[in-house]
Order: sequence, then C-alpha cells, then structure tokens
Amino acid sequence: MRVFFSSLLIGLTIILILCIILAKRSRKTISGSVAFLLSGIIAPIIGNTIIIASGNELVATIGCYTYYIGMDIFMYALLMFTFKYCSITWKNNILKNLVHFLVYFDIIQFLVNPFFGHAFETEKIIYDGFPYYRLVPHIGQTYHRIVCYGLFLAAIIIFVVMLIRSPRIYSERYSIILITLLVGGAWQSVYIFSRTPIDRSMLSFAILGFLIFYFSLYYRPMRLLDRMLAQIASDMPEALYFFDLSGRCIWANDPGKSLIDLDEKQMDKTIEKLNELFGDIETEHEEWSLKKVLGSGNDVRFYSIEKRKVETSNSRVVGSLISVRDNTQEQRNLQMELFNANHDTLTGLYTKEYLFKSFERKLKQSMDVAFLAGYVDVKNFKIVNDIFGNDFGDYAIKCIAELVNSFVPKEGICGRLAGDTFGFAMPVNKFDKEKVSNKLADFVVSKGKIEHRIMINIGIYEVNEKGLDVSVIFDRAHLALSMAGNEFQSGIIYYDDKMREMMLWEQLISTQLPKAIEEKQIVPYLQPLVDSAGKVVGAEALVRWEHPEHGFLSPGKFIPIFEKNGMIVEVDRYMWRCACEIISRWKDKDIFISINISPKDFYFMNVPEELKKLVNEYNIDKKKLRLEITETVMMTDSDSRMEILNDLRSTGFIVEMDDFGSGYSSLNLLKDMPVDLLKIDMMFLKASENDIKAQKIVQSIIHLTKDLGIESLTEGVETERQYQLLSDMGCRLFQGYYFSEPVPVEVFERSYL
Ligand code: C2E
Ligand code: CA
Ligand code: CA
Repeated sequence: MRVFFSSLLIGLTIILILCIILAKRSRKTISGSVAFLLSGIIAPIIGNTIIIASGNELVATIGCYTYYIGMDIFMYALLMFTFKYCSITWKNNILKNLVHFLVYFDIIQFLVNPFFGHAFETEKIIYDGFPYYRLVPHIGQTYHRIVCYGLFLAAIIIFVVMLIRSPRIYSERYSIILITLLVGGAWQSVYIFSRTPIDRSMLSFAILGFLIFYFSLYYRPMRLLDRMLAQIASDMPEALYFFDLSGRCIWANDPGKSLIDLDEKQMDKTIEKLNELFGDIETEHEEWSLKKVLGSGNDVRFYSIEKRKVETSNSRVVGSLISVRDNTQEQRNLQMELFNANHDTLTGLYTKEYLFKSFERKLKQSMDVAFLAGYVDVKNFKIVNDIFGNDFGDYAIKCIAELVNSFVPKEGICGRLAGDTFGFAMPVNKFDKEKVSNKLADFVVSKGKIEHRIMINIGIYEVNEKGLDVSVIFDRAHLALSMAGNEFQSGIIYYDDKMREMMLWEQLISTQLPKAIEEKQIVPYLQPLVDSAGKVVGAEALVRWEHPEHGFLSPGKFIPIFEKNGMIVEVDRYMWRCACEIISRWKDKDIFISINISPKDFYFMNVPEELKKLVNEYNIDKKKLRLEITETVMMTDSDSRMEILNDLRSTGFIVEMDDFGSGYSSLNLLKDMPVDLLKIDMMFLKASENDIKAQKIVQSIIHLTKDLGIESLTEGVETERQYQLLSDMGCRLFQGYYFSEPVPVEVFERSYL
C-alpha cells in the first residue's frame, strides 16, 4: 500500500513538473502564477511521499518539514494565483504585508521546531508491516493550520464573490475552479480529522493542480464565446439569416427580422420574404453576391446582398448565411463626394476639369453640331474684394455665376474656371449675342446698401476645326478675351485667326524689347511744335523701332501691346532719358521737349521720383521737359493722381493734357485737372471742320482754357485752312504734318536749331 501510494505520488509529481514546463512556455499572462502554484503543490507532495516511503526517523522528519513548509508555499501560491485569475490587484499594502508575515512566521516557527519541539514531533508506529513515523501535532501546528486554512478560505471567498458579482456568462470561469478548490479542501479536511496515516488529500491537490493548469491555460469558454458571437451578430447593422443544410432558416438577427417583417414562427418563410422584397434572389449556388436598388427619388435605397457558406474548421459545410447590407448612406456620400469633386463649392457650377471633360464628351457625341466656347472674365474684380470686402465679393461671384448660367441653354454647359473667370460651351446657333450683350450691359450686383456695376468681358471661339483639344478651344476664347481694350464697358469679343498672329507678334516683340533698347533699335523721333508765328518752340518725342527684321515700326505696332503687358515702363524710361540727353545738348537753345507718360507708368513706377532723378542727372531746366499725360490717368485713383500732378507742377514741370477730345473728355474734369496745357485732338477738329456747331465747341474749349489760365495746342494740323481757322479761334500752339512729320533727331537739329 505504502509502495503503491509513494509510486503514485512520484508519478503525479513528474506529471506536475511537465505541466510546469508547459505553463512556462505559454504566453498567457496567468502562466507564471500557474507555474508557481504547481511548484507549490509539488512541495507538500514530495514531503508526503518521503513520510510514506521512509522507515527512518530523520528522513521522515525531513519529509515532515518539507510537507509543512511546502503547504505554506502552496497556499501562498494559491492566493497569488487567485488574485491573478480574478484580475485583482493588491490595493492594500498592509494586507499584503500581513499575508507575507503570517507565511514567513509559519516557515520560521517550523525551522526552529527542532530546538523547541513546539510544532510537532514524530511518533513511531508500525504500518503496513514497516515502521511509520506519524506526526504528533502541538500548538505551532495549530498556528500552521490557521494560516493555511485562512489563505485557502480567502481564495475560496474571492472566487465566491467573483462568481456572484460577475455576469452570468462568466460563472463557468469561476465556478470550475471554485468547485475544484472546495472538493480539494474537503478531501484534505477528511484526512486531517480521520487521522489515517496516509494523506490521500495529496491526490486531490494534484488533481486541483491539473484542473487549474487546464482551465487557466487551455480551456476555451465556448459558451461565453457563443454568447459573445451571438451578441455581435445581433448587434450588427446588417440583416443576417443563418440557414441549416436543408435550407431552413434557423436564426435571424433583429435587423434581419425587421427588414422582412419576420417573426420566430415564420422562420421557414425567410427566403420567400426576401424574394418578395428584392425580387428573385439566387438560391441555387452556395455563394453569390448582388446589388439591389429599391424605391426611387428621395426614397431610393441601395442594398448589397451576399450568401456565404458556413464551414467548420475542417472545411465541412454546416450551413449558409445570407447578409443584407443597406448601403444607402454610403451611396449618398459617394454621390455627394462626386458632386463636390465636379462642382465648385461657392457657385455650384462645374469645376474647370469637369467642364472640360463634359465639353469633350459633348463634342464627341454631337459631331455634326457647331459649338462655341466662351471665356468670361470680370474686370478688376480685385477692386470689388478690396473695397466691399470678401463677403460681398463671394456674393458677387455667385451673382455672376447665375448670370453666366442664365445665358447657357439646356444644350450647353458652364463652369467656374478660376476665381473670377467662368467658361461655357453651347451650340453656335443657341448663342444670342444681343441678348447676352444686353444682360452684360445691365449687370449690377446689389446687396443691402451696396450697389456695384460689374464689367464683364467674354471671349468667344467658334469651334471650326475638328479634333481640337478642349483646352486649346478655351485658350482661343481666352485669347479673344485678352484682346478686349481697356474701355469701361462690358464686351463680347470673337476670336479670329489674326488674334493668334497678334499673340505671336506680342510674344515676339515683348521678348525682343530689352535687347532692342540696349542696341538702340528704339529711337526717339521729334515732331516740331509751332507757335502762331510759325516758329518752332518745342518738339514732341515720339518713339520709333528700327527693327532689324521687320523694318521701321511706328508706335501703333508696339505701344498698345506694351501698355497692356506693362513693358511700356521700359520704353518710356528710355525715351525720357533720350529727351533729357537731347535737352542737355541744346542747353543754349530755347526749345522744350514734350515726353509721353503712359497711364500704366503710374502703376509700375514712382513717376515724379524718376523724372526728378533724370533732370538732376542731366542738369536741365524742368520747364524744358514737358509731360504729356492723358485723361485716362485720372480714371482710377484720381485723388492720388491729382496729388502726383500737383507735386510735379510744384517742382517746376509743365504738365500737358494729351488727346483732349478723343476719349471721354469732360469739361468738368478739366476744371479740376492740375495741368498747364491742353492738347486738343485732331480727330475732334476734323469732325468739326465743316460743322458750325463743332467749331463752336472747339472755340468754347479754347475760350475756356483761356479763362482757366491754361494754354492750348491743337495737334494733327494738316492743312493751312485748319491752321488759319484755329489761329482765328485764338489757339497759339500747333502740331501736325502741315508743319512737319516726326523726324529723326539729327534731321530736327539740322532743320530747326
Ligand atoms: P500722340 O501722343 O497723340 O502723338 C501724336 C501722334 O500723332 C504721333 O503718332 C504723330 O506722328 C501723329 N501726328 C502728328 N501730326 C499729325 C497729323 O497732322 N496728322 C496725323 N494723322 N497724325 C499726326 P505716332 O508717333 O504714331 O504716335 C502714336 C501714339 O503713340 C502717340 O500719340 C502716343 O500716344 C504714343 N506714343 C508715341 N511715342 C510714345 C512714347 O515714347 N511713350 C508713350 N507712352 N507713348 C508714345
Ligand atoms: Ca503725345
Ligand atoms: Ca496726342
């Protein structure tokens, strides 16, 4: 019996050691506690084995110590395991220290037992025919029992509390261990009170170890898992239907039931009801997926339906699953994204890219239709933002978008190209130029107290070449647009091939200008200014370009281009320098030179500073450098322009108003303009030659200048009769072919100095 029992315990010990090795290899967080607990179980088992197997008193006594101290370690490890298993942390250090103290004290009292004999002693009896050393407990033993039972009880209480407090699906997790502990504990107690020499409770401890090892490290709580999976499936937004192998629906989640109005009693009708809702869904194949759209308009709903096999881990089909997903929101978001990607957020019109793409499609689809493309540009839109603020600016852009949209018929398309530019395309015969012109002419944006007239230019290209890229089509419309003048009115400009040539010409001369100035291809010509006695009193400096390839170029060929792109500044700066250089050469002569100042010069440079620098550099009398400006200078920013002119006059320059009568001359403006001389335009004169009324107007302008203390000069005098007439009217200065055309400087010097 003793041999059998010892062998049994040794066998169990070996198995427990194997379990410890496996636990050590496991990656679970609990594995350390499990390994410690198993080691704790092994210690008393070994002690007990020694007691049973030994007939020697000393050996048996050592076995006793191993047993008792082992029990301490075991109970301590059990408590540690319990804490870990139940995810409890030591909140209270005092409690922890108390447990440690109780355990250490018990171990120490056993270690000193050989000296005092207070814990136990051994008593020899004959058992199974051999000497057997039975324990005789003393007072220390009672302490030991209190500690061990205490710890054991603490573990049981913890499990009981956990069992009560945790959700029911977790009860399995705690109850298994709890039952094992209770059985183990009961078994042990039976031994203690039965006082049979062989402690059979060791078996229960070993079994307790195995169970804990298994349940902590390998057991998968299937019921818990099932519950969780079922919960997840019920909570899924998709409608789910599970079918067994016979095709009978065995379970549907709540969304599934409500989608087809299904209740538990009608589960057999699931497929029928799905068919009713979605039309025929496929039933033959094991796996499929399809998309369905139900309803229309605002009530439209999008579904994706899928059937899948349900297989076990070894690929045995056990049933099937149909899932129905409502994709409506996703589809709406997608459509919204698509709309946002293709439409401008502010105006709701197409974006440039989408406009181009749609136009390309239209061109391909309607090969026989003649289309035109329009490029719409708002003049000086920056000013709208600057003056009225961005809110009004945005509002204005929306109004312009509406306007553009209003002249596009249903066969056409339009979009916003960039900030203040729009594009449209439509069949040529649908474009009503007059109607559009009228709309542009009347276009005013008003919001609250603000009312602002907005000028718009439209460049039109009628597509007359097949296969042109849409971007080229709009480039041409844009090119037409860029030909719009600076007039203060809206306009529609059609593209023609000359514009392309013009654009190429513009590009050519613009790149060549710096070199032309450097190489003195740009030269000043002088046209004499004559007084009423026929004496040359001055000259106007007029620019010429002696171009190496294109020959002699008069300013009409390049000045408007440079005025448009701002390069006029380079020309004028150079011409002014030439004029100053000439004046400085004519020091002793009483002849002045008038230079032309373009309105654009005021944008790009500080005109007074530039002129003062030049006059100082060449050390010339300011009165000899007369400045010709045009009325347009005053059209924008008139207050600061007025200041500039006053500044120039007060420093001693003579300022002349050029081309009076050619533009929007207003006598009112004249009254305020700080000028010394008025150049009356020849065209005005020509129109009035035989017209008594017009002659009267010229007459009154001349009188007016006198009254205002301003000199007058008539330019473009071609005949003696004109000269006579104007002299009679009281004009004292003249310029024109009748006296001389503009001539090279040497010719002027030879003829008039
Ligand atoms: P503008 O300042 O009004 O110059 C007078 C123009 O009238 C000159 O043309 C001159 O040749 C022309 N002209 C003079 N007398 C007669 C005449 O009896 N009959 C006719 N039909 N024309 C006459 P041009 O030199 O071709 O200059 C044209 C315009 O170019 C100038 O008009 C001026 O606005 C601009 N321009 C010329 N040189 C310069 C310059 O250096 N700088 C700037 N900014 N503009 C210039
Ligand atoms: Ca002039
Ligand atoms: Ca002029």
